[in-house]
Amino acid sequence: MSKASAAPKASGPAEPVKPSNFLRGIIERDLDAGTYAGRPFGGSPGDAAHHAAGQPDPARIRTRFPPEPNGYLHVGHAKSICLNFGLARDYGGVCHLRFDDTNPEKEEQEYVDAIEEAVHWLGFDWESGGTSHLYQASDYFDFMYRAAEALVQAGLAYVDEQSAEEMRANRGDFTTPGTDSRFRNRTPAENLARLRDMRDGKLADGAAVLRAKIDMASPNINLRDPALYRIKHATHHHTGDRWCIYPMYTYAHPIEDALERITHSICTLEFEDQRPFYDWLLEHLASLGLLAHPLPKQYEFGRLNLTGVITSKRKLKALVDEGHVSGWDDPRMPTLFGMRRRGYTPESIRAMADGTGASKTNIWLDYAVLDIALREDLEGRAPRAMAVLDPVKLVLENWEEVFGAGHREPCAAPAHPQRPELGLRHFKLGPEVWIEREDFEHVPPKGFFRLYPPQPQADGSVAPGNKVRLKYGMVVECIGFEQGADGRVATVRARVVPDTKSGTPGADAVKVKGTITWLAVDDAAAAEVRLFERLFTEDQPDAEGRDFRSVLNPHSRRVVQAFVEPSLGSAAAEHRVQFERHGYFVADRIDHRSQAPVFNRITTLKDSWK
Ligand code: ATP
Ligand code: MG
Repeated sequence: MSKASAAPKASGPAEPVKPSNFLRGIIERDLDAGTYAGRPFGGSPGDAAHHAAGQPDPARIRTRFPPEPNGYLHVGHAKSICLNFGLARDYGGVCHLRFDDTNPEKEEQEYVDAIEEAVHWLGFDWESGGTSHLYQASDYFDFMYRAAEALVQAGLAYVDEQSAEEMRANRGDFTTPGTDSRFRNRTPAENLARLRDMRDGKLADGAAVLRAKIDMASPNINLRDPALYRIKHATHHHTGDRWCIYPMYTYAHPIEDALERITHSICTLEFEDQRPFYDWLLEHLASLGLLAHPLPKQYEFGRLNLTGVITSKRKLKALVDEGHVSGWDDPRMPTLFGMRRRGYTPESIRAMADGTGASKTNIWLDYAVLDIALREDLEGRAPRAMAVLDPVKLVLENWEEVFGAGHREPCAAPAHPQRPELGLRHFKLGPEVWIEREDFEHVPPKGFFRLYPPQPQADGSVAPGNKVRLKYGMVVECIGFEQGADGRVATVRARVVPDTKSGTPGADAVKVKGTITWLAVDDAAAAEVRLFERLFTEDQPDAEGRDFRSVLNPHSRRVVQAFVEPSLGSAAAEHRVQFERHGYFVADRIDHRSQAPVFNRITTLKDSWK
């Protein structure tokens, strides 16, 4: 069986029905009209002849996600990935992963590997029907050059040797038409010879460019003889030193789409003005017999921006290079690696991206939407546990008297309150317990129901200290406290109230208004916990030309020595858990070790920013 005729399988996880958007409308119209029905596909990218010899394309549509491998993917790319792979999946199509590696200078294998890993992690795959649709634009350099010669021979392109300044001056502007280059009327034969000189390394960088011959007076500046090829004596990470001329993005991208038989080429709004050239180029190359009909069509949608983060690879790189963060995967970074390390689930990122649909304007989405999606995802599945993040010691003075020396009281709690099938978690209560510092007040403010010591009254009497329940454990009554040399509370003293164990018949005999989380000193696992805030203090850190460095949040990362339930001491990396009252946490992907746990707070239980 030929590879191409195998039935396409869904290219990503099944998702609930999504709200319609204009892209879905376009695809549905094309499917109804049969725009792409029955077109042959050669089983791999190729020119008109290659596809003409192929089988009817088993994919009803083809989309692509085309990152430039010059950095790590960020949350904006997640939007594009979800859109392209999601539409292909929903309409019986296939989505290609294509490295748009036509610029030799900034691209590296490290980024290529990281991009593949990130797309997989998000839950998508470019494999379909036994074929891997993973492509790189640099594989098409031969075709692109052949197409360039064909355009030259057809009188549709010329080699321009004006200086960069002349070229800029002659381009005109929005109100002034451009001026023809003095090289514009060279014959095809002259142009071909000059193009070959460019290719053969006979000209220096910047000495000449190949330009399309369209219209220097066009109101669309992108049609004023756009550059197709430039000279760049640079080593490419994939093609090495084979080429010293490289295609411009605007020339390369439409060709990449057509060779791969993309049907719907979805890009962001800034490419809208390029669309006329996209069509001009493909239609001419099709008439010259190089590319097959039906040709791909470009559609633009608005970029996704999240408040409080920046989504420009260049600026993210600056954050890394200047040491404002620990790396591309710093948990505060809006890169997919950063978000993964922070603990966001692929499901939550997909839900956030899909929830924004596709619109014709750039959008700023409140970052809280991502946290809401994360909570919705984890609420039903993350096991619960107790953690004490700001520990102070509570000593139960009468422990030995009540239980005898050495006794430890086994306690248990459901792993998840609504999911009994997940079973119980186990821990022990003993004579010394870690509690949260904020659960004790020396002088209780009004309405404080947690621990406070006996209080002298106006009439000279002393009211007893407060009683609280140690959650899943027993009721304790505060009897005093001690301060350290720094004036901070060092120890809280209490007595355990006998026969009040949670789940026993006597448990409700003593009424308390407060329940607090805790962990026994000789049972808890010590853990490093990393607490994050937003990296920037402004919603639009780089808006209106502001230097994002001026709005870095100095408190965006805080590390505390905490205690967690004993079973979490040996949790696996990337294990996610809800620490009761503190939020959702993940065992750090890189630094977490069994017996030396490190947890990142993904988000709090409620939105607490501002
Ligand atoms: P950057 O400016 O960060 O370098 P880019 O757009 O140049 O981003 P590419 O690698 O060229 O990065 O992007 C790959 C694809 O992802 C493109 O189709 C691009 O339009 C899309 N994309 C990038 N950023 C966003 C965003 N914020 N929202 C939606 N799509 C995006
Ligand atoms: Mg780009």
